[in-house]
Amino acid sequence: MHTGSGTVGLLLVMTLAGAAAGGETQVEPEVASKMLASQTEQFEQQVVEVTDNVYTAVGFHGANTSMIVGTDGVIIVDTLFGPSSAARAFEALRAYSDKPVKAIIYTHSHGDHTGGATAFAGDKRPDIYATENFGVAEGATAAAGPIKARRGSRQFGRNLSPSETTNRGVAPANTADHDRGKGFIPPNVRVPPEGLKTTIAGVDVEFHPAPGETDDAMFLWLPDEKVLFAGDNFYHAFPNLYAIRGTAYRNVLNWSESVAKMAEFRPHFLVPGHTMPVRGEETAVAMLSDYSEAIRSVYDQTVQGMNEGKGPDQLAHEVDLPEHLRDKPYLIEFYGTVPHAVRAIYAGLLGWFDGNPTTLNPLGPKVKAQKVAALAGGTRKLTAQMQAALVQEDYQWALELADHVKWLEDGDRELARTVKIAALRGLAAREYNAPNRNYYQSYANELESGALSELWH
Ligand SMILES: [Zn+2]
Repeated sequence: MHTGSGTVGLLLVMTLAGAAAGGETQVEPEVASKMLASQTEQFEQQVVEVTDNVYTAVGFHGANTSMIVGTDGVIIVDTLFGPSSAARAFEALRAYSDKPVKAIIYTHSHGDHTGGATAFAGDKRPDIYATENFGVAEGATAAAGPIKARRGSRQFGRNLSPSETTNRGVAPANTADHDRGKGFIPPNVRVPPEGLKTTIAGVDVEFHPAPGETDDAMFLWLPDEKVLFAGDNFYHAFPNLYAIRGTAYRNVLNWSESVAKMAEFRPHFLVPGHTMPVRGEETAVAMLSDYSEAIRSVYDQTVQGMNEGKGPDQLAHEVDLPEHLRDKPYLIEFYGTVPHAVRAIYAGLLGWFDGNPTTLNPLGPKVKAQKVAALAGGTRKLTAQMQAALVQEDYQWALELADHVKWLEDGDRELARTVKIAALRGLAAREYNAPNRNYYQSYANELESGALSELWH
């Protein structure tokens, strides 16, 4: 079990992460690869004996699933993505108890925690616990389902080849996803907003609704064992306060407060929704306190900047974690990033308009490309600048210029496409934030294969 700084791998990560500052997640390619390989140790497939009666199966799919053993039955916490991965995890957990399943608990409604319930329930119908507002988050953005699915595939790197694959930030790559959601059973016991204390299979269990990654999240507390199941409000990486696959605003302030509330319980064992369980009161409390503070600090800095009239582009480059939190291995931006969080907070509180009247009605991309080309001295000179940026490994600038060239009637659209593919791969190789890396790489492959339209949508 990880204690937060006790392994060589994590110390390596801490040292290497120092190479990137200011919310940047770009480092030398070898460093990025080593960091991601080290993070992969957080979800290698195994069953962790958390206590005498709590077992957590890590790495059987993206998330964790746990079994609490009581006097006359077991309780399952989260059920993975589909029945096949859930069945394999349950088989491994069954080595520790063959008592019947008395209850299943969903910490929140995301599919990687709810899709495999039938594998645990079998023919029986145990009680299924979830919060009263279970499912609200996904329902709100259902209309955008088709594009969310495409963007989600890129974020998780679902179509990448093994050589292009690293991990998903807080989850392994190459999981079995074919039976997504096929084992979902709707909850029949709803936890009210004020929480619930009960006894299941002789085990005292407390349910505490705690909005964060989703509004329908809760954490579980076992008062006798001092085990806290955090769901996805805590895992070993900077939190995904915004998901680039596309999400409605995740209430960042609530998330920070929910994690602070968890710290008040002073758990001796902390079981995250993803990544390895943590042992030790001091370590667990420090992690939760730091996590809450990190989220709160990003929120406060962003709000302060907003109130000074600054826009998201500026703030995304200015806001950073407080100095004393930057070297914490559980806050490295393997999953969420600070600049993405800043943009999400801005849009969540004020919407898309940055307050600058220039952006009330900006030029359309085609007109803007024509004017940029004229400014550069013509399309040929703009194209030469684009190629030079790629040669100089100024990849972000190469992308931005390629996006202009593709709109020009007299532009070499094929060359622009080639430059964009190369620049995306250049960024991907240096990226240690897994969603960014997977997205860059996936999009490059789509461009190369001709899967996208002429204008690269
Ligand atoms: Zn999850």
